[in-house]
Parts: sequence; structure tokens; C-alpha cells
Amino acid sequence: MKRLEKAKMMHRSNAPIWEYFEDRFHTHPNKYALLDQHSEERSKTIFNESLQSVSGGRKRAIYIHVPYCKDYCTYCYFLKKIPKGQELELFVIAVKNHIYNISKSIWAREKEFDAIYFGGGTPTTLSRNHLKDIIETIKRNLPIASDCEISTECRIGQVSLKYLEGLTQIGFNRISIGIQSFDDRVRMAIGRHLSRDELVAKLTATKKLKFKSVCADLLYPLPNQTLEIWKNDISNFLELGLHGCSVYRLNVKEGTDLWQQLSNKAITLQKSKELEYNFFTEIDRALGNDEWKRLTVVNYGRKGAKEAVYLRYQNDIRYDTLGLGPGATGQINNCLYSNTRNIDEYNNSMLFNTVPCVKVWKSNDDFIKAWRWQRLSINTYISISSDLLKASPSMERVINDLVQINLIKTNGDELVLTEQGRFWSRTISDIIQHTIVEDCIGMA
Ligand code: SF4
Repeated sequence: MKRLEKAKMMHRSNAPIWEYFEDRFHTHPNKYALLDQHSEERSKTIFNESLQSVSGGRKRAIYIHVPYCKDYCTYCYFLKKIPKGQELELFVIAVKNHIYNISKSIWAREKEFDAIYFGGGTPTTLSRNHLKDIIETIKRNLPIASDCEISTECRIGQVSLKYLEGLTQIGFNRISIGIQSFDDRVRMAIGRHLSRDELVAKLTATKKLKFKSVCADLLYPLPNQTLEIWKNDISNFLELGLHGCSVYRLNVKEGTDLWQQLSNKAITLQKSKELEYNFFTEIDRALGNDEWKRLTVVNYGRKGAKEAVYLRYQNDIRYDTLGLGPGATGQINNCLYSNTRNIDEYNNSMLFNTVPCVKVWKSNDDFIKAWRWQRLSINTYISISSDLLKASPSMERVINDLVQINLIKTNGDELVLTEQGRFWSRTISDIIQHTIVEDCIGMA
């Protein structure tokens, strides 16, 4: 484990924490790395078999990927397109057919769904009637908990207050708003055109509507975003008194407009691990106080506010998620699956009632068990179950090394990431995953 040896050397020489590892991962390491991927034909068969067996009462949520946006943000690499003609109507019919087809399965009828989450893309590209139609179809065909959390992601600058109020009337009780930054120059540089003042006014009015939870996304480091601007972003966010916040590190992916602009030197982006550490500690300390609670590596919630049900289920292998829409992933009875990312193919497949699932990952129990520890312990990780030590033979040594270099500390029966550990959480997750894979291969 060369990475850990280097980090131990850095620690011994009192190097700054941002120098401990080469790579700070943007996203969680590949969550499917420990599972076998099957062919498309076999995937469809396994998926159908999973739907026809009971889950033993596993809790469950629904995720709907709405792959449409009215315009694009320069950094975006998500599955999305600008809708043309009657495409939105076709999409809504496809999702409704998908719900209807799934509803006939044994799995679907076994237990109530606790959360419905519309992600994207921009789900609020759909009209209220479209969203209402989908929600009513779900309620008519699937068992839904009476206190079901119904959430949507939203571009607040593209919808009216009347539209937002209408969302509460059709059942939405949680909304997640992509703010990214409050600064006008930063927002312009990433393709967001609402000014800071308009944004604050709209958020203030949205907070007064009947959503139980209004949350925001923030992003760093963005073009034109200095550390001073980031501190202002955090203050602006705190002053609004919203219920929660997801904070992401910018990932510049090849092929995006931002990547192109940086390659052409049309814009510049301040980038260093030290600067990232400073951005990270600003938000982690601001939302780590008495009023706030760290929920996961990227999610913070106001104390007393309920943790988002969907986010909790999605991150945990003990729960199931029904993924609807193109590119949506889901998990049914330990079968992880992904729908086709081709939007036309998805819309057409549902017209002809074929299965849009094209990839399934499923493997033998030992791998699932090892993978389960990794997922449970790190992705939702603020505290790590000491059971992780049993995940594979080398794990105890790895965890001891992480404790020794002050990335993890013990707290009773739990292992807890330190502030430095939170900064390197995804690298730690990758190290743990590699340890499990190497041990499993060694044991095979
Ligand atoms: S709104 Fe979201 S999905 Fe659409 S372009 Fe912007 S970041 Fe991408």
C-alpha cells in the first residue's frame, strides 16, 4: 500500500495535510468495483428475476432521472439535453409506463416506498402537470408511505414562485436548489444568470412556502471564486436559514464547456491542494458548529432538521432504490442496475414495454459482504463502524495506519474521521476499497 506509506512519511516529516496523498478524488470511488458486471441480455434477465422475489422487508425509495435542462452550466457532465417538440410529453408517458410495468412485480408490492426523488438534469423543466401526472401514477400503482418524502432538484431562476407554490400543492415537501455560488461574476462564468440579489429574494420567498425542507447545493473552487468570495458564499447561505446543504468540489471533466474554456485559456481557475484545503475547512468548520450537523461527506443539515430519507437510502446497501428514467441507477434485492443512458432509446423502450435496464452488477456473497462494509462505512461515513476492521484480513493494519497519521480517531466503539480525514475521505475510501479487493483476490 504505497499511498499509505507515503502519507506516513509525510506525517513523520510534519508535511502539511494537503501533501499526504497525490490524488484527492472528486467523487466516490467506483461503487461497483467489487461486483461482476453482466452482459446486457443477462442483465435484463437478472433484473426481472430480482423483481420477482421478495426483499425481506427492505426499506425503499424511488429515484426519477429527468434528463432535461433549459440551458447548460459550463461545468456540467450529467446526462441531459434541451427538449425539443413533444419530447417532454413522450418522456412523461415513458416514465408512467415504466412505473406501471414495475408495479406488477412481487418486489414492488411488498412494502411501502418512503421517498420519491426527482433528480436530473433539471426536473423543474417539466410542467407542474407533468410532475403531478407522474406522482399520481406512482400513488395509484405503488404502495406509498403516508408521510412519504417527495423531493425535487430545482433551478430556481427558471421557475416562478407560483410554480414553486404549485409544487407544494401536488405533494412536494422537500426541494434542493442548485445555488453553487452567490457571487454574480462566479455565477456568470458558469452559465448561471440570476443575480445574487434576485437569488436571495427568490430563496427567501421559497423558504416561506410549505416545503418542510429547503436545501441548497454549493460548489468550489469555481472560475473567479477566491477564498474571500467563498467565505461570502458561506455567510450568504447561513443568513438565509435554509435547512440543509450539499457541498461539492468542482470536477472539470474533459469535453465540458468549462474544460474547453480552460484548454483554450479563455478563463483561468485557481487550483492547488492547499487552496482546496482552505475552501474545504471554511465550510466544514462553518457547518460543524452547534447549529449544524455533518450528515455525510458532502451533506450538512441544520440540527433538528430531518435527514433526507432519499439521500440516506441511496447511500446504503441495506435499502433498495427503484431507479426510473434514462441513466438512472437503482438497487433491488442486492442487484445493482443501470438504465440505458440513451434518452430516445429509454422513451421508445417504454412505449414498447421492453426493459430499459442495460447493466446489472451482482456477485457472490463474499464480495457483496466486503463491498457492503466498504459502502456502509465510508460513503455515509462521518463515523465508521468498527466492524469495518473485519471486512478483510489487512483492514486492521490499514485502519491503524490511518489512526496513526491522524486521519481517523477512535471514539468508543466507533472510528471517526478527523477534519483532515474528512478532507481526504474519498481517497481513504479508495484505499479501503483497494485493500478489500486485494484481500479478496488473494483469498480466491
Ligand atoms: S442544471 Fe444541472 S444538469 Fe442542467 S446543465 Fe446545469 S448542472 Fe447540468
